Amino acid sequence: MALPLAVVYSPGYRLDLGAHVFPGDKYERAAALLRPRAGVRWEEPRPATREELELVHHADWVERLLACRLRPAELVRLEVPWTPAIRDAVLLHVGGSVRAAEILAADGAPVAANLGGGFHHAFAGHGEGFCALNDIAVGIRCWQRRRAAQGRETQALVVDCDVHQGNGTAALFRGDAAVFTLSLHQADNYPALKQASDLDVNLEDGVGDDEYLAALAAALREAFARCRPALLWYVAGADPYREDQLGGLALSREGLRRRDDLVFAAARDRELAVAVTLAGGYARRVEDTAAIHAATIEAAEAACAS
Ligand SMILES: [Zn+2]
Repeated sequence: MALPLAVVYSPGYRLDLGAHVFPGDKYERAAALLRPRAGVRWEEPRPATREELELVHHADWVERLLACRLRPAELVRLEVPWTPAIRDAVLLHVGGSVRAAEILAADGAPVAANLGGGFHHAFAGHGEGFCALNDIAVGIRCWQRRRAAQGRETQALVVDCDVHQGNGTAALFRGDAAVFTLSLHQADNYPALKQASDLDVNLEDGVGDDEYLAALAAALREAFARCRPALLWYVAGADPYREDQLGGLALSREGLRRRDDLVFAAARDRELAVAVTLAGGYARRVEDTAAIHAATIEAAEAACAS
């Protein structure tokens, strides 16, 4: 009997951003859609610790985030307010990715999902594009530490399918042979200045389901030809959706679900563990964003059961 899918989530994930394009309640909306599902094991995260954050981030940046003492220019770049309540929520999101990483390293589960996180625009010493701390990188470092202590392989592959390039993650792992970064994103979109991932797929405006899925399949083939990971970290942005306010691709909800299934199938074929984080989602209807995120978790659940 397969283990039920572990989904890490807390009501404390809510981001009270006021009037903002980022729907800070999308996490609880996705959780409400998933609650009735029997095939899910809910896990509570704890806040990420300073020591965990400093596996990735500069001590000075961590110190000022924790103390809520950001400079005006840093707040402009971050594009979200930084209050004690938002800080505490973000620390829980990062802790959720750490928990997902721990579950994969300790339990031998095939998939673990954080119903939050995916803050791929955060760099070592600054935040931008709504992302102050890079939970993906912190989670991977925690997973690698556990695996190294077990004497096991520590190679990881990041598959970033948010509509925006994973610039922070690319910069954090540049030159690191133990982490291969793949980003599939809209070329003409934020960030204007892109960082070099190990593999970048720059998509034209308006790309739809079939073209996107073909590009993703080809990118996964190339990535697996170039690295031999034991972990796939899936950054499952909901913003390639055709109704997204900050995206310019044209995927349908069905196409996004096929995207999820394609990533999970690629991991299963190679017997890789998969960590899932959500990343962006700014559909005109917040219900669509929540449903796309919930569908990703359903795809993870199906992958876990198979
Ligand atoms: Zn995005």
